[in-house]
Amino acid sequence: MSKFEFTPIEEIDKIHAELKAGFYSGKLKDVAYRKYQILQLLYLLKDNSKRFEESFASDLGRPPLESQFFEIASCIGEIYNYYKSVDKWAKPERAPFSLLWFPMRPTIYKEPKGVVLIIAPFNYPIFLSLLPLASAIAAGNTVVLKPSESTPATSALFAELFPKYLDNDLVRVVNGSVPETTRLLELPWGHILYTGGGRVGRIVATAAAKHLTPVTLELLGKSPVFVDPKCDLKMTARRILWGKAANAGQTCVAPDYIIVPRSFQDTLIKAFKEAHDEFYPDGPKAPGQMSRLVTPQAFARVSGLLKNTKGTVVLGGETDEATKFIAPTVIKDVKPDDALMSEEIFGPLLPIMPVDSIDEGIAYVNAHDHPLAIYAFTNDEQFKMKIFNSTQSGSAHVNETIIHPGAEGLPFGGVGPSGSGYHTGKYGFDIFTHLRSSLHSPGWVDALMSFRYPPYTAAKIKSMNRTLMPSIPARPKGPPKLSSGVSWTK
Ligand code: NAD
Repeated sequence: MSKFEFTPIEEIDKIHAELKAGFYSGKLKDVAYRKYQILQLLYLLKDNSKRFEESFASDLGRPPLESQFFEIASCIGEIYNYYKSVDKWAKPERAPFSLLWFPMRPTIYKEPKGVVLIIAPFNYPIFLSLLPLASAIAAGNTVVLKPSESTPATSALFAELFPKYLDNDLVRVVNGSVPETTRLLELPWGHILYTGGGRVGRIVATAAAKHLTPVTLELLGKSPVFVDPKCDLKMTARRILWGKAANAGQTCVAPDYIIVPRSFQDTLIKAFKEAHDEFYPDGPKAPGQMSRLVTPQAFARVSGLLKNTKGTVVLGGETDEATKFIAPTVIKDVKPDDALMSEEIFGPLLPIMPVDSIDEGIAYVNAHDHPLAIYAFTNDEQFKMKIFNSTQSGSAHVNETIIHPGAEGLPFGGVGPSGSGYHTGKYGFDIFTHLRSSLHSPGWVDALMSFRYPPYTAAKIKSMNRTLMPSIPARPKGPPKLSSGVSWTK
């Protein structure tokens, strides 16, 4: 296993300067060189797949299946898409046809933003580091990656492998914690992508504002799950329990809590018990079945929430400080003022908050920060649209949990306090790309736009209005009828 060492703070400015020189070397202007680096990144993952499995096991106690499903295999697939798509993405685009403007060849050039910074959290170290890294390279940027200090084995592996696979003039790892990240944030960047909690998100946004650096913030939230009695009960229980237990609940889009009609709570709990027994015939603590909490501090925080709940534990509840293990745990009759509702849980605890009406559940969600995801389990299209139309969230899903960040073609991002900006796929390329507008105007355009030059005359105003002023639709007779959905009740 590689040795985990922090990057000396005095080297950080030098790394920044070297990457700036690397940017102006023009290597990445050539899309072929970007593809070469992306392919190298793919081989970094493929050749070292086993070593990453081992580092995840060491950092997070991760079962190999979770390491491959959430990170190694899925990221190889996603990054390969970038490899195949970058020629198309990077091509200059013509603006949509306009009779007035087309002679000036309006064109959008896809320009890199410069030297960019990616600050990553601990919970999905490849998905949240190497995917954005591949996006930034695809867009032609040079990059500093700052991985999490809470995953020392994986962060050390990045530091060992990057110089072997990637061009050192273009991509570097800076390992460290607060002092190193603070120094990084004092420097000017073309863009910062930060993924992590809201407290640090504010620190990042404030530091970026000093240099007017554009930022993408991928933050956190308490993602609710609405369970409708008109659902496929067995599937509902399996998908929610799995979404909560995967990576020991340390998933930014994990189902955080359940909102269910009071009369349906016990039926749902019975289904959770059945799903649990099917998933863990030898118990969740059996080798290779469940991830562990990342640090003793994380274990203390999550087990503290469990100790302080006033709800009733109906499934699980086992904790083991020595191995940072917490069993998938369902807690019933949780009230809005419960400890479990006070912050993002980020552990395998699943509180159920029974309500008397769906509107009560919706009002609760709307009284709090917009979550990263909202989940609804239902077979009723009206129920789905009621939830979707009455709430705000980064994304919204029916009968599924946590896999959407991997869905090809969908943007991944929050709204308001759960984040701003999107990544994965083309959306990742876009955040690291400046759209450089361009006109290339021929001399004869003056025949069309000569009215712009003084002396200004009434005739020229007339000619200008003929050229620029569109004829708009007739004045409306009144407001339109609102579409159905706005006043739906269950
Ligand atoms: P964190 O905010 O503690 O750390 C993230 C990064 O910020 C690390 O690299 C860390 O070194 C750095 N950092 C920590 N303190 C800092 C400081 N004072 N100044 C500058 N940098 C600092 O987050 P975490 O615990 O690693 O990750 C868990 C959080 O991330 C959860 O809240 C989770 O919801 C969120 N998350 C969000 C997404 C998303 O895509 N929206 C994905 C994964 C995780």
